[in-house]
Amino acid sequence: MRIGILGAGQLGRMLALAGIPLECEFRFLDPVPNSPASVAGVQTAGDYMDAEAQKRFAEGCDAITWEFENVPVEAARALQKYAPVYPAPEALEASQDRWTEKNFLQSQGLSTPRFAAVNSLDDLRQALREIGLPSVLKTRRMGYDGRGQRVLRCEEDAAAAWEQLQGSPLILEEFVKFDREVSLICARERGGRVFFYPFVENLHREGILRRTIAPALHVPEGCMQAARQGAESIMQHLNYTGVLSIEFFLQGANLLANEMAPRVHNSGHWSIEGANVSQFEAHIRAITGLPVGELRVEHPSVMLNLIGIKPAAAQVLQVPCAHLHLYGKQERPGRKLGHITIAAGSLEEAEAAARILEPLAGL
Ligand code: AMP
Repeated sequence: MRIGILGAGQLGRMLALAGIPLECEFRFLDPVPNSPASVAGVQTAGDYMDAEAQKRFAEGCDAITWEFENVPVEAARALQKYAPVYPAPEALEASQDRWTEKNFLQSQGLSTPRFAAVNSLDDLRQALREIGLPSVLKTRRMGYDGRGQRVLRCEEDAAAAWEQLQGSPLILEEFVKFDREVSLICARERGGRVFFYPFVENLHREGILRRTIAPALHVPEGCMQAARQGAESIMQHLNYTGVLSIEFFLQGANLLANEMAPRVHNSGHWSIEGANVSQFEAHIRAITGLPVGELRVEHPSVMLNLIGIKPAAAQVLQVPCAHLHLYGKQERPGRKLGHITIAAGSLEEAEAAARILEPLAGL
């Protein structure tokens, strides 16, 4: 099977590493030459919308997928003439715009933080009256890892936040004083069977994921059920094939969906060593028509992201049960350069090892 992946970052790289044992070959399309995934397949360096680059990338592929959700929907659609694209491009449409996404999540039975579209300073003042303070003003599109977001704590913050973010459509969201953040990663086979990993708990700083604990403790049974039902409904609605990730805020007994990613997710990296089947393999299996099957935690795990920092491998690996993944990127502040997973016999053991490693990860 030859698989084409839109985007050649670390997610593409880990997808290929999972698919190579299944005799899959990989091609990537990404505008930045020599991207992290290029060591694991053939990269076409070109614009997603460039028809010539699309042809070079896609001709001869058996299936096409993506590793991030901001690839143009039209590019995903255009590539359908070369090979089936999984998930269906409608999944990109549902998730690229925060306003559309929240409406979609609600339509599939999930609760979300309250929100309003903002296209002018007057809209913002009106939305503030409805939603109250504190709240978060975000760009509707192309925001990730905390980019394009401003927290409003008093009415006077509105003008400055507007000044900084205006120029693209915005959304104002209620600022949720959550107890914890959790995410749900699931996979749907081509034939429609759906499998879930257990919830994992995530810690973010400055909008960027820093640490994941798998499995999450303390998620009320009712929340788990509601999330799974919502996820199933989304996947059925989109006739979804592959891995889907949904991030939630947990506030008491309330579960509020923050966003969905129609792809493998940073909060699922622990599954490479910690699960019976990794999220990357689950995605490859699903899009190539293979069975995914039940997804379980084999080793309770803690995953630490390496943001702008690359510790010495020898230092990390002297801690038992620690695994180091580096993405082959140049060091730059705020950049995801790699991650460490501690996959242990128990969560206590994993957390004890994580405490030793956290300073190396700048935590
Ligand atoms: P996002 O890009 O929307 O996933 O936001 C990144 C992170 O910022 C989230 O994981 C939260 O930690 C925080 N955040 C975003 N939106 C909200 C919100 N409405 N209320 C509270 N925290 C938020």
